[in-house]
Amino acid sequence: MEIKKILFATDFSEGSSHALPYAVDIAKRYGAKLYFVHVIYDVTKTAGWYVPHASIDEIYRDIEKSARAELEKSFIDEMRGFTDLAYAVLKGTPYEEIAKFAMENKIDLIVLGTHGRRGIDRVLFGSTAEQVVRNAPCPVLSVRLPKH
Ligand code: AMP
Repeated sequence: MEIKKILFATDFSEGSSHALPYAVDIAKRYGAKLYFVHVIYDVTKTAGWYVPHASIDEIYRDIEKSARAELEKSFIDEMRGFTDLAYAVLKGTPYEEIAKFAMENKIDLIVLGTHGRRGIDRVLFGSTAEQVVRNAPCPVLSVRLPKH
């Protein structure tokens, strides 16, 4: 078995943060590169009505910038010296983008939380963790928060 690329999917929730040490330790053990991936929802897909793209593009640029800054600064302590990292902020439906990124970048393992930030949205959109497991081109390690 070869694990050279690991994707850690984060929505910055307690659930995903709990999964991070697993991603870091496996990356260290296998000498793998760790990809931090956050997906921003594409509201133009979910709104159900016309959203003018010019204004929304500008908002997305801002969100993307702060999401990337957050990705790069949030997890420094947990890295414990590990530096083989890459960051990606994607736009769309989280499970689709995570599966697509894994395919395009030949990811060997995806690590995510069993639970995320969303509450009622889960009922509307379905669970990201479950959909990633169903659609990923590689094995998926989903880590449950002890309280769940
Ligand atoms: P959920 O199924 O939405 O409760 O989320 C389960 C896990 O999927 C979270 O703990 C994250 O690891 C991952 N996840 C959820 N939403 C996103 C997102 N927007 N971007 C990246 N990862 C996500």
